[in-house]
Amino acid sequence: MESENIPSAKPSRHEKPEILLATRNKHKTQEIQTMLGEGVIVTDVTLHAHLPEIEETGITFEENSKLKAEGISRHVRGIVLADDSGLEVDALGKEPGIYSARYAGPECTDEANTALVLKKMKGLPDEVRTARFRCVLAVAENGITLAVFDGTVEGVLAHEVRGEGGFGYDPIFMPLINGVCTQTFGELSSEIKHSMSHRSRALAQFRVWWANR
Ligand code: IMP
Repeated sequence: MESENIPSAKPSRHEKPEILLATRNKHKTQEIQTMLGEGVIVTDVTLHAHLPEIEETGITFEENSKLKAEGISRHVRGIVLADDSGLEVDALGKEPGIYSARYAGPECTDEANTALVLKKMKGLPDEVRTARFRCVLAVAENGITLAVFDGTVEGVLAHEVRGEGGFGYDPIFMPLINGVCTQTFGELSSEIKHSMSHRSRALAQFRVWWANR
């Protein structure tokens, strides 16, 4: 396999370390950059035209995360981080799950996905609107997975879209905070989301791994 000259995650003497994300989702890149802070440069595959599209043929978040990390890491130097994430709604048998990005069909919008979940949940009372966001991060190098981290945040689905913040299903997901679910991630500040999200919880484990490797 050809390796492009992408900086490795190991820092040279005066450079910041760089982490390549196996994603085309700019929201994920922005969130992970914000959470890892300015000491690290987070890039994604949209900056590297020759990198292949990795098909998500797995049936779990972990399988898809590993497929993406391993698939991209075969073409670059250094470690690659992949994020496979989504919303699990208990009343829908844990749908949309791994199909979160394409729940309303291929190439669909976040708004269409959110509307479909709300439509399927229409009229159901709060007690059965429980849901969670899950994020599985996989780190790979040279086509081999080195580590996998799993983060979850529990919550309840709102009855309608609320708030402008975040992305994806954020405007319909109310995380459990101090025993209650009152505001959606779309209404809460990004600081609050990043202090407790599925992604930040998985990323906290990644940071420990990365610091000790
Ligand atoms: P993936 O790219 O296959 O991992 O699909 C991720 C999809 O899950 C996104 O397109 C969103 O629809 C949803 N998702 C993942 N993380 C979040 C989040 O933090 N907020 C809202 N939706 C999310």
